Amino acid sequence: MKLSQAQADGASLLRAAGIEGASRDADRILAAVLDMEPGRLRITEDRDLTADEAARFNKGIAARALHQPVAQIVGFRDFWAHRFKVTRDTLDPRPETEALVEAALARPWKTVLDLGTGTGAILISLLAARAGTTGIGTDISEKALEVARHNARRIGVNARFRQADWYQGISGSFDLIVSNPPYIAADEMAGLSSDVRDWEPRQALTDNADGLTAYRAIAAGAPAMLTPQGIVLTEIGPTQGRAVAALFADRGATTAVLPDLDGRDRVVLAEFGR
Ligand code: GLN
Repeated sequence: MKLSQAQADGASLLRAAGIEGASRDADRILAAVLDMEPGRLRITEDRDLTADEAARFNKGIAARALHQPVAQIVGFRDFWAHRFKVTRDTLDPRPETEALVEAALARPWKTVLDLGTGTGAILISLLAARAGTTGIGTDISEKALEVARHNARRIGVNARFRQADWYQGISGSFDLIVSNPPYIAADEMAGLSSDVRDWEPRQALTDNADGLTAYRAIAAGAPAMLTPQGIVLTEIGPTQGRAVAALFADRGATTAVLPDLDGRDRVVLAEFGR
């Protein structure tokens, strides 16, 4: 089968399975099978797929038809300036999280702590963008930490990783604390798309409560873990700005809510400036 035919067949299979953005997803899967950089399909010669390519493509399309996220199928996600390995044990790094990276890179810092690091996308992006910096990533999931360590090694940054429940066992002080914690409330889980709800690690999505549990822990521990001019940047869900800012303000911080590229509230900045 020709590449163009595979592309068209894959897209129509996904469309029939009710996948939004079917042709974009078929393209991403085919591009990955063909090992194309930067992960975008470009057919220059409409050749036949090899048997191995066809088998991998069909397997990928079948998985996507079951709503598995493309990043899990192809095994990576391009985020900020690098490619990150993604597995079923890690949250798929989202474009809106780049708003947090951008905000962090607009400020001075040399040491960073990333709570709930997952793939390590935030921490590794920050360290790779600024020479002479170091950081620690924590996660409750050992399997996620294996992925983060792999990404840090491959991209080449000075990061250490530790299994921890938020700050547990972490010592030292940091100029910057970042986190994209589980912030989906228990009663919002049913409303998530199947791609997210049925495939991404539940403990990376929800606290099984009001969606604010992680921020309470992060805000409570922050003052003791920050250098005198240290700051916290946390991702939030678009309706959580006021509530999360209040949690940090209660601990003595000055706060601001920052938008993502779609103009939705996405990041809370907390400055403790002592
Ligand atoms: N942004 C993700 C979503 O809306 C949730 C990630 C998180 O809880 N940190 O699906």
